[in-house]
Amino acid sequence: MIENVKPLSRNSYDTTPVHPSASHKRPLSDHGSTQTDVAPKSLAVPAKSGAQSRLDPFSGDWTIFAPHRTSRPNQFGKVLQVVNKTAVTCPFCAGEEELTPAASWAARIDCNDRFLVFGDPTDVDALDWSVRVVPNKYPVVTDCSSNRDTDIEHAKKQAFQQRANRAESLFQSRELVGGHEVIIESPNHVQSISELDLAETKLLLYAYQQRLRYWKNQNGIQYISLFKNVGGDAGASLQHSHSQLIATDQIPSHVETVSERMRSHQAKTGCCLQCDIVRAELKQKARIVAQTDSLVAYCPYASRLPMLVRVTTKDHQNDFDNLSLPVIDELARLLQRMTGWLETMIPDAAYNVLLHTRPPGSSANEEAFHWSLEFFPRISRLAGFEWSSQSMINTVLPEVATEKYRECAKAEDPRRVL
Ligand SMILES: [Zn+2]
Ligand SMILES: [Zn+2]
Repeated sequence: MIENVKPLSRNSYDTTPVHPSASHKRPLSDHGSTQTDVAPKSLAVPAKSGAQSRLDPFSGDWTIFAPHRTSRPNQFGKVLQVVNKTAVTCPFCAGEEELTPAASWAARIDCNDRFLVFGDPTDVDALDWSVRVVPNKYPVVTDCSSNRDTDIEHAKKQAFQQRANRAESLFQSRELVGGHEVIIESPNHVQSISELDLAETKLLLYAYQQRLRYWKNQNGIQYISLFKNVGGDAGASLQHSHSQLIATDQIPSHVETVSERMRSHQAKTGCCLQCDIVRAELKQKARIVAQTDSLVAYCPYASRLPMLVRVTTKDHQNDFDNLSLPVIDELARLLQRMTGWLETMIPDAAYNVLLHTRPPGSSANEEAFHWSLEFFPRISRLAGFEWSSQSMINTVLPEVATEKYRECAKAEDPRRVL
């Protein structure tokens, strides 16, 4: 079962050295706080409600909704919160560029809010950056630029390794090759999207597009994961606002399952699964959080996590990197608003942002795959049932989550209608 925990301050488990300039802005820990339940009890439906299982058409997984579980007692009130308050320099702040590997991409915002991409990101001029991309110092993959003598040599090595593995098929292994980059979102020591201005958020999304294009053009790359962790509970090890990109020469099995289900739906019906769901959600309206001219944000019917919002284009678009700048502008505004709503409900919330775009090695073609972005706070932890069954238990129904976001949107601007 999910062990419910109080929505924590995003820094509550953070063992990261703390940057002194940030300390006045966001609390580093809430020592002495009592960990009780996940999601605020106000998000739950009455205790009489029974559990319900809902099918996620993308993954084929069933999510169990058990909102009454937010009422159960919790004897594990206090959790030791470890915070290293040693003041050290933040490697992502402007002026500390020598603490990270040489940049692979950098751009700045000029006085007219235009983006200027530096031809040589390692040049001294590029020290005046607004967004800076660097290779991760601790990559999870073998760097393809240093590993590959040639693509052919690399392919030979992988083929040899796979032949050797077939002989020992119970103990298979292969080298994972690709790239792992950090996208530093601001020269200033900020921690959340809500602290970026609109131009910075747009440039961040533009940087996502540029790095996706770069990695898609590298031979052998099958999958590109782009994500953002904010706060220790969301997996961040450094506070300074940043995203990560991991490109691999192997497509994860769960990603391939989703791709295959999208391919199969399109082959059977002639329609894209995401387009069909967006049309159905817009008709039902119960889970629509917000709309712009091009985008829709909704809480998925079988949402695997509490308060998860999915954003996508109303019209079919398979690749995120093909979105036009006006759509990127809409997405930047929406992302800032959603972060603001979340932080209104849960101040200093730890949260994740995941970007799903068509993997280069996907079985789904351009008509079948439809990009999306997922945004969710970290207010639950996986426990024994989830680990043993790979089925998620969600204590907040998406209809309840939608209402909560809508209340925040209404408070922000009462004139805005869905
Ligand atoms: Zn910093
Ligand atoms: Zn579509």
